Amino acid sequence: MKDSQKRVNLILFGPPGSGKGTQAKMLEKKFDLLQISTGDLFRYELGNNTPLGQKARSYMDKGHLVPDEITIAMLKRKMDQHNDVVGYILDGFPRTIAQCEAFDRFLDDRGEAVNSLISLIVDDNELVTRLLERGKTSGRADDANEAVIKNRIDVYKNETSPVYEYYNNKGLSVEIPGVGKIEEIHTRLSEMITNII
Ligand code: AMP
Repeated sequence: MKDSQKRVNLILFGPPGSGKGTQAKMLEKKFDLLQISTGDLFRYELGNNTPLGQKARSYMDKGHLVPDEITIAMLKRKMDQHNDVVGYILDGFPRTIAQCEAFDRFLDDRGEAVNSLISLIVDDNELVTRLLERGKTSGRADDANEAVIKNRIDVYKNETSPVYEYYNNKGLSVEIPGVGKIEEIHTRLSEMITNII
């Protein structure tokens, strides 16, 4: 890292099905970061039928966002449990402006900030195809139904895409084509991250 005192905070951004999870896992290994996926955290709670999972289920099954308050508290708890890492790669968070503001305040209290938001660009038709394909094996209720998939893409456009602008206004957002071979996309992301950290 250029500044060995500072932890890296990267956001991997993009619509559902853009490959955030796959790429974040590969980057986690390559750069020794901790991947945090709020979707995975919710699915873990859901799988264990915890009170948090029970609260989240109805929103997730419909493809709606879980309320900010619940999501932000869960994210902070996870980061506090792992505050000895080199850096984080967030996937699926932040998804609203309220989450961005809460996240920035949280990092500021730690003497840190977001380093970069990297947005994966994939067109809508490709997203629907990928998610329906994933739904055959993922066991995710929200991947199995085309109406729920379309709703998730709409929620992304209406509620989540402003997150790109929020960090773009701070000069931190970049875009990367999210189509092609997984390895090629990984190489593009790695080159970009090497320039950032
Ligand atoms: P994902 O695995 O990122 O596609 O997330 C699956 C579902 O979890 C989403 O459709 C939301 O219902 C919920 N979720 C995940 N991350 C967030 C977030 N940052 N804010 C609100 N809801 C979220």
